[in-house]
Amino acid sequence: MAQRLIVIGGDAAGMSAASQARRRRGRDDLEIMVFERGHFTSYSACGIPYWISGLVPGPEALIARDPQTFRIEYAMDVRMRHEVTTIDLERREVVAQDLEDGGEVRERFDELMYATGAVPVKPPWAATDAGGVFGMQTLDDGAALREWLDAEPRPRRAVVVGGGYIGVEIAEALIQRGLSVTLVEAGTQPMSTVDPDMGELVAEAMRGLGITIRAGLPVTGLEERDGRVTAVVTAEGPMPTDVVVLGLGVRPNSALAAAAGLPIGTTGGVRVDRRMRVPGMPGIWAAGDCVETLHRVSGMPVHVPLGTHANKQGRVAGINIGGGYATFAGVIGTAVTKVCDLEVGRTGLREGEAEAAGFDFISVIAESTNRAGYYPGARPMTVKLIAERPNGRLLGAQIVGWSEAAKRIDALAVALWNGMTVDDMTALDLGYAPPYAPVWDPVLIAARKAVDALSALDR
Ligand SMILES: Cc1cc2nc3c(=O)[nH]c(=O)nc-3n(C[C@H](O)[C@H](O)[C@H](O)COP(=O)(O)OP(=O)(O)OC[C@H]3O[C@@H](n4cnc5c(N)ncnc54)[C@H](O)[C@@H]3O)c2cc1C
Repeated sequence: MAQRLIVIGGDAAGMSAASQARRRRGRDDLEIMVFERGHFTSYSACGIPYWISGLVPGPEALIARDPQTFRIEYAMDVRMRHEVTTIDLERREVVAQDLEDGGEVRERFDELMYATGAVPVKPPWAATDAGGVFGMQTLDDGAALREWLDAEPRPRRAVVVGGGYIGVEIAEALIQRGLSVTLVEAGTQPMSTVDPDMGELVAEAMRGLGITIRAGLPVTGLEERDGRVTAVVTAEGPMPTDVVVLGLGVRPNSALAAAAGLPIGTTGGVRVDRRMRVPGMPGIWAAGDCVETLHRVSGMPVHVPLGTHANKQGRVAGINIGGGYATFAGVIGTAVTKVCDLEVGRTGLREGEAEAAGFDFISVIAESTNRAGYYPGARPMTVKLIAERPNGRLLGAQIVGWSEAAKRIDALAVALWNGMTVDDMTALDLGYAPPYAPVWDPVLIAARKAVDALSALDR
């Protein structure tokens, strides 16, 4: 009799795992059953801000493979609008509720893939049924926001609460749609994924676009009238608005796993080993935004909810479930985003993270340009490097600048992944032509500056 794999969660991690397992094991050897509580499979949540702004069409364009494709081409039993409510490890069964008709099904498994993603942080003040308040996690959330923005009377004012990268991307999308946008952030500045000095450059660019930034101002409540939100409340009083988008971060969606007795780590994510197995639980796998993973620089467990990791981790799990051998090597915290034309990249540790991990380090900021100064379109680029003292090993890097800025972080990520020192980096053979870089690339200028800073300290 064929074994059965049950997958909980039909997006990046779950469907990568299911597809890889199917490639290696035919339907006579492995039945694959997927439970997804939403309306879509294998979709790009990353594209939602560009769908909101109108830059890309949606939601179809954001779907890589729909349920029917998985059913027909991959021989999977895909149960949409089914939410798994219980995992019974002893009987090796899951219980799922059909969200359309309220019915319940109970299905056995030999292998279980837990890929439930993350849940948006929602403080008590945000618990409201009022129209016009949106989280931003799934295509359904994107569709709901678009519908609200298109309905009459057209919303004119928007407040985005939280200035992480999702909040920043949504603020950009809303200003592009012509709304008057305020971003309210409890911390000192938006874009907390980079150090404050680099985040200030992002804040400046956002103000330049006409986005009002209110930093250091926690939201404490919402006001509503006739079932619609009318204001967010802060210590300074009500801030009138027609729409509120919450971008307060996410946490691992691990409650179902915890209830079943799966081990949960210090970050709240499900614990997994390098092969994405749940330790001590034969046949149980987990991947994506619901797990915690190893940070290769700090050596600490971290929760880094990014699509790039979810896809890789799901693939690793699927190869292993399929009888192959694969491992996930951990993360170094590389991420990129943009605010209109301003690009932002980071990799490794920020100053605060390097401090928390106990490193002695220096940091330098180098100002340069994205192209040769005389070439049309040359614009400023700021590179920050953080290097361990005294050995000069690169610990982290951040870049803010115009075109060609964000993806330059990849060169730094490769250097960091391979344990290079800033001294080694000064000799890197990076590409140069006036349309792409000054003769000394901004990365090389920053590396030289870091070498100087280290030798000045050790003199
Ligand atoms: C607006 C936005 C922009 C983003 N931009 C980027 C980016 O630029 N780059 C990047 O790398 N990442 C980005 N991300 C993050 C990326 O989308 C996620 O890291 C990725 O989707 C995680 O994949 P996952 O499969 O682990 O979880 P998810 O994509 O969250 O999928 C989990 C699925 O499980 C389902 N589910 C949960 N519980 C149950 C249950 N009990 N029963 C059945 N089904 C269940 C959910 O409905 C969901 O479809 C962005 C995310 C958002 C929201």
